[in-house]
Amino acid sequence: MVQLAEISWIDAEELFKRTDVVLIPVGSTEQHGPHNPLGTDHLVAGALARVVGERTGVAVLPTIPIGISEHHRHFPGTLWVPPAVFREYVKAVALSVATHGARKIIFINGHGGNTASLIEVAGELRRTYKLFSAVIMAFPPGMVGHAGAGETSVNLYLHGRLVSMDRAVDTRQREGLGPLKMEGLGRVGPAQFPWDTIDLSDTGVLGAAGEVIASTKASEEEGRRLMEPYIEEVCRFIEELKAARVEELLSKP
Ligand SMILES: [Zn+2]
Repeated sequence: MVQLAEISWIDAEELFKRTDVVLIPVGSTEQHGPHNPLGTDHLVAGALARVVGERTGVAVLPTIPIGISEHHRHFPGTLWVPPAVFREYVKAVALSVATHGARKIIFINGHGGNTASLIEVAGELRRTYKLFSAVIMAFPPGMVGHAGAGETSVNLYLHGRLVSMDRAVDTRQREGLGPLKMEGLGRVGPAQFPWDTIDLSDTGVLGAAGEVIASTKASEEEGRRLMEPYIEEVCRFIEELKAARVEELLSKP
């Protein structure tokens, strides 16, 4: 039993004697197209943290379910907090678990919008608070897009009862903004603007500018194919981390 929310303080005392590694799952509550649950990003982060924690024996904190999602606000049910509030809260959670002996603090992050802030917090934990900290994405590398086939497949694999495939749609993402065509510039890379999802997509599904994103192609099997090798890789990293002396991982004075 490694989930802090499910054990007593007696068990937690034992757990922190055995390990100085903790996983903090972080996500969002935001629209994920007409077919995926609002909790997609925090549910996937929590599920990955749970299985990695069970396999490696490190402590798993309760999931932080609300993040930086204001750009999805036009879709009902989306929740968010300002980035500065998010950073302070996440940092405070990390420092609280450090008082129990955690020295290596790993954020399992399910939401791209949180990434820059989590890296900032991890940097502060390492440079100012003499802890090691890192951010691991909950979705495997190369899985681009938002609520497209990849993310929908992972949901089908991990918690399929929450997905309504009869509502899945294929979406062509807009490339421009109003009269601006931005052809060939795209929304990332050469030209960026602080887009809201509604600027680019009526369904809430996002991928690459101008392309069709086929959420309808999602399957449970594809979700398994994407996640299982990734879970193993994350476990390998956590095993390495367990074996390392924290002094060797800290920021130099
Ligand atoms: Zn997502």
